Amino acid sequence: MSFPSPGSPHRRTVVVIGAGPYGLSVAAHLRAAGLSVRAFGDPMHSWRDTMPVGMLLKSTPDASNLSAPRRGHGLADYCRTVGETAPRGHDRVPVELFTRYGEWFQQELVPFLERDQVVNIRQKPSGNAFDLELSSGEVFSSAAVVVASGLTGFAHVPGRLRVLAPDGPSAEGLLSHSSQHADMAALKGRSVLVVGAGQSALEGAALLHEAGGLVEVVSRGRIRFGAAPASGPRWQPESPMGPAWSLWAMARYPQAFRSLPDQVRLRLVKEVLGPSGAWWLRPRADGVLPLHSGSPLRTVRREGDQAVVTTEASDGGTREFAVDHVLAATGYRVDLGGLSFLSPELRARVAVLGGFPALDAGMGSSAPGLWFTGLPAAASFGPFMRFVCGTEFASARIAAAVAARAAS
Ligand SMILES: Cc1cc2nc3c(=O)[nH]c(=O)nc-3n(C[C@H](O)[C@H](O)[C@H](O)COP(=O)(O)OP(=O)(O)OC[C@H]3O[C@@H](n4cnc5c(N)ncnc54)[C@H](O)[C@@H]3O)c2cc1C
Repeated sequence: MSFPSPGSPHRRTVVVIGAGPYGLSVAAHLRAAGLSVRAFGDPMHSWRDTMPVGMLLKSTPDASNLSAPRRGHGLADYCRTVGETAPRGHDRVPVELFTRYGEWFQQELVPFLERDQVVNIRQKPSGNAFDLELSSGEVFSSAAVVVASGLTGFAHVPGRLRVLAPDGPSAEGLLSHSSQHADMAALKGRSVLVVGAGQSALEGAALLHEAGGLVEVVSRGRIRFGAAPASGPRWQPESPMGPAWSLWAMARYPQAFRSLPDQVRLRLVKEVLGPSGAWWLRPRADGVLPLHSGSPLRTVRREGDQAVVTTEASDGGTREFAVDHVLAATGYRVDLGGLSFLSPELRARVAVLGGFPALDAGMGSSAPGLWFTGLPAAASFGPFMRFVCGTEFASARIAAAVAARAAS
């Protein structure tokens, strides 16, 4: 199967940008569909270099498989191949194991991966193909591009905190984002205020505390932990992220999610599987670390080498923290402006919904030939697109849509 090829042979090639769980899965499916594929990125970079050493996955082993076009490429298959005991049931998956699994998947199914970054994509004036530029300087054309660049470009830091880092957050300065820490122990000698209530905030704080760091956590809302599996309501069906009818439905029918009204979809993406710590994290954080729920930020200022943050307190007063570092574990917000490799003209051609690209049933955007997967697809196909388990639906969907376009 091939695209029409006026001129360069590259125009017949599908390009996949990103080599995390989504990029690797979709590249494997596209190749298995008989398409010529060029895939770009540093395999499992986000997991190896932007998540803390010692982190445990929130997803269960069954929900931590990349999607392969044929059997034999799950997490358990990798463990069997290297002679390790595979995590099962509610066992925790260490980030180091998951990263090695992804790298193995790449070597097995996406051996053609190129390590270059895609630095620029422009739509050709004819509108039916793209010019791409790589970090190596190579320029080529393609009629089909799949954006699987994950969380890159979407790290969110509340505006109020930015006064601490006028030149941008950094691990060395007064303010950083959680994605800037591959090793929490590096913050050990400093007093740290973690802002957030999700798994990154709570697990990051626990890891820092366990490394001997001085850490407190403040959160606008309530700090919550999931229910331990045995205590969950058993009459609800299992989903990859826990038992609940709503989760089960969204995991099983991502295509039906697309037909919900826009505002409902946006609300569900924001609220479902929202910030909370995994059940198994509770004993490492709750009652162990100072966790201040219901403490929205009031004021933030620099004072010498320190950050001084005041928050509201539950008794109606305020609480002041003077610390060496503020770690914003404040998540990610999809905004196409964060994808600097898309030219401004191309970005303007992509219809959006609440910052997310609006996608058709095949995950294609309004710019013909440009597909999105992973987190940017969540507003169209539901919150499971934020997690590894969503690769199964997304990869098969995109491969079918790209193959159909190639055939036509
Ligand atoms: C701290 C943390 C913990 C998490 N834990 C879990 C969990 O337990 N279970 C779960 O299911 N999900 C978890 N997630 C969500 C997780 O990020 C996604 O499930 C998963 O990484 C999505 O895969 P992806 O391929 O879309 O993105 P990524 O894994 O981020 O991969 C995207 C890749 O694209 C590359 N890239 C970006 N731009 C370019 C470019 N221009 N050219 C070439 N390459 C590029 C990046 O370098 C990166 O390697 C967690 C997220 C965080 C932040």
